[in-house]
Amino acid sequence: MQSLWDIANPQLRELSVYEPGKPIEETARELNIDPREIIKLASNENPLGSSPKAIEAMRVALNDAQLYPDGGGFYLRNALASKLGVKCENIILGNGSNEVIEFLGHAFLKPGDEAIASEHAFVAYKLIAALFGARTIETPSPNYEHDLNAMLDAITPKARIVFIANPNNPTGTLISQDKIDKYMSRVPENVVTVFDEAYYEFIDNPPDTLKYVRDRRNVVVLRTFSKIHGLAGTRVGYGIAHPEMIAVLQKTRQPFNVNSIAQIGALAALEDKAHERETKRLVDDGRSYLQEEFAELKLAFIPSAGNFIMVNVGDGPAIFGKLLTRKIIVRPLKGYNLPEWVRISIGTMTQNRKCIAALKEVLSQDRPS
Ligand SMILES: *Cc1c(COP(=O)(O)O)cnc(C)c1O
Repeated sequence: MQSLWDIANPQLRELSVYEPGKPIEETARELNIDPREIIKLASNENPLGSSPKAIEAMRVALNDAQLYPDGGGFYLRNALASKLGVKCENIILGNGSNEVIEFLGHAFLKPGDEAIASEHAFVAYKLIAALFGARTIETPSPNYEHDLNAMLDAITPKARIVFIANPNNPTGTLISQDKIDKYMSRVPENVVTVFDEAYYEFIDNPPDTLKYVRDRRNVVVLRTFSKIHGLAGTRVGYGIAHPEMIAVLQKTRQPFNVNSIAQIGALAALEDKAHERETKRLVDDGRSYLQEEFAELKLAFIPSAGNFIMVNVGDGPAIFGKLLTRKIIVRPLKGYNLPEWVRISIGTMTQNRKCIAALKEVLSQDRPS
């Protein structure tokens, strides 16, 4: 044996690791400054913090941390079901919605299979497909949008899953109801379609995909507590699908995949309408502000339906580095094959203003005025 890689599963050799937003603590250590001085606009986290109701409920829940969680997630699944107008049997909980993507891999992907995703789509799909030895076909994305016709045309007999991120991260583009309906009228029944709706609660007139769950089509709708509810650190997401699909996915799940503190926090966050409303308002205002400023700076950006905006700064990694020295963390998109772009999460108004001021400084260094 030359190396451990000789006996490890072959698909792991080429597999790249997910590159998360640069953490605040790491940046603080590198710059040798107080972490509180740093503004992180790199992971689409909630600028208002977690739902205060969730924090309160989680504090109380700590008293029972010696007990294993309810593996069936009874209360949370029921609360989600009644909110969404479906049944408990239509819901599976994940350790973040990313874990539900992994369940889909366990359930439907094996070496030689194919998954279909759009170019510049959320990178988790192809990483997880690769983990199961499946190949991801990436379809071109004109104007940075998903092209659902191209995705349909890419379906071969080896295709098992089509991943549709709506809105997509990092591009922020939204697919209309009309396009979704046309897609659903054409997609073969033996292919599973995943609608990843991590930013659903930020959309003004969200398209309805749950009607396809009610029609027992082979779709899985993914949502999460990480974004609007501000619970990214507790890791709770969920999938919504017809009961047989959920039964298949449940077989792939570890018995206690969502911890008890997270379940209780998520349950309380669901009821916290004020926090949800306030977050959406803050994000709507911040989005308008940032998009106006980008236009003023003559920077190309993609109008976003999420709590983040992708903007063309010329040299993404360089601008990321320069903003970092000004204590602002954004997301370079080189890994998405978008080297000219960075993705900026919408923060509080104070954070947004500081970000724009810093961006103006670093851009004026490069540009003759
Ligand atoms: C943030 C995000 C998620 C959420 O992941 P969690 O595992 O629930 O934190 C899922 N899909 C997309 C497209 C995202 O941007």
